[in-house]
Amino acid sequence: MKAVTRLFLVSMVLVLLSTSAITANAHTPQQLERDRICMLAAYSLVLSDWQESNQKIRGYNIGSVLVSPENRIVCHARDSVYETQNNTQHSAVRLMTQYLAANKGLSILPDYTIYTTLEPCAMCTGMMFFTGVSRVVYGQKDLCCGGAVGRLKLNSKKWNKSGYTPYPDLSTRYAHKEFGAAKSDLPYCEELEQACAQAMRRLPTLRTTDFLKSSEAKKIYEEAAHELWNYKLEYPENSKLLEDARKLVPREMMIDGNF
Ligand SMILES: [Zn+2]
Repeated sequence: MKAVTRLFLVSMVLVLLSTSAITANAHTPQQLERDRICMLAAYSLVLSDWQESNQKIRGYNIGSVLVSPENRIVCHARDSVYETQNNTQHSAVRLMTQYLAANKGLSILPDYTIYTTLEPCAMCTGMMFFTGVSRVVYGQKDLCCGGAVGRLKLNSKKWNKSGYTPYPDLSTRYAHKEFGAAKSDLPYCEELEQACAQAMRRLPTLRTTDFLKSSEAKKIYEEAAHELWNYKLEYPENSKLLEDARKLVPREMMIDGNF
């Protein structure tokens, strides 16, 4: 076998091994715990600057945290569309642009994970595709503007010759894995979805972002914040991540329950 061919085969095996390692990592009990901690961090981040229903101060009650390949929370952001008077200022957009601006020389985010309280919209998801983010975990399905990941991955050419093939997934190129979206397995996710669906049945014109300013939504966010503060670690290797998560929430807020 020629040396070039041998080198090619060895690199292919290495790529396959690293791909399967990353994929498998997403389902380990340690990773599931990291997913829970980071999602609780995102809920708590929103609660720590809760916007009441009649306010138009900062933005919607939506927040995101960015987790590095080393499993550390490296950036966080809240929706700020009112404060900036700029409708592009969703939390996930702010998260990616702020982190990239603060880290000169970094233009992509392979193997980074974004945890966001509400399922990302098409704008935020498009940015995730372009930065090569590997994974997004969300804390509530968005009945209005959700499903963006599935829509970008849809192959409509299968049904229609003039349809579209899936949008290019840059995480496949940068991180050797397909970009994936996952709903959080925390109970708060289901509770928020059910309460939101009920509120929409009562008032069909209600938007998810309106529901997220209700006292009903706030109560569920408070439960999540209490769980973060009282969280008992199962895996000691996640202790730094838990510290990072708790730093996002003012200590007095947790002690006094003063939301
Ligand atoms: Zn968005």
